[in-house]
Amino acid sequence: MRLSIYYGGTFDPVHNGHLAIAMAAQSAFSTDVILLPSADPPHRPPASASAEQRAAMVDLAIAGRPGLHCDRRELRRSGKSYSVLTLHELREEHGLEQPLAWLIGIDSFLGLPSWHHWRDLFGLCHFIVVRRPGRDVADADAVLSEACLGRWQTDPETLDQCPSGRIYLLPMALRPESATAVRNGLQTGQNMNAVLSPSVAAYIHRHGLYTSGV
Ligand code: ATP
Repeated sequence: MRLSIYYGGTFDPVHNGHLAIAMAAQSAFSTDVILLPSADPPHRPPASASAEQRAAMVDLAIAGRPGLHCDRRELRRSGKSYSVLTLHELREEHGLEQPLAWLIGIDSFLGLPSWHHWRDLFGLCHFIVVRRPGRDVADADAVLSEACLGRWQTDPETLDQCPSGRIYLLPMALRPESATAVRNGLQTGQNMNAVLSPSVAAYIHRHGLYTSGV
């Protein structure tokens, strides 16, 4: 069965690094990637832009890119946007046999043990992990390393062969972009167009986003 890939994030705002990652996964696995903006991210202070604005920017960024989609389910749900809840919903929709993967940056992956019911995640999805400057798989703490034992795969096709529980490090060039840097840059009056889709940059400007506070 063909793998389905979900990419959760705050996307505050969505930047070219997010897009490059989604497209690299799409191409490595020859399958669509669904971006899932988080409504109320549990592991961080509230986002600067509203959930609707962040999802609108994701829509703009992926417009004209076949194979990339935006799923607003976390915006329709009340309460914290726990990934485990989203994955339970996706499991019900896709069934128990369908391979599902969660696309994630290494910084987020290293924080997995703080996620709600994090051990359950391995029974719900695979992980496709993306390297990020400054963090490394070797930085995983003992609890995470132990939970990951025997799960790492070097062949992407192995993720099609079972529904969940495997981890694959996506080979791609490091992407330096960060949403924090975009927000900080905009707040101090810098032009951040080099790391944003033109339509996202125009939306930010039109709505006066990220001009005060981060
Ligand atoms: P912030 O700086 O506000 O924390 P961010 O740039 O990390 O934002 P998120 O929306 O939090 O963006 O990220 C969504 C997912 O994409 C996370 O799993 C994160 O690790 C990953 N990600 C974001 N930017 C990169 C990048 N440059 N390289 C690798 N992974 C990234």
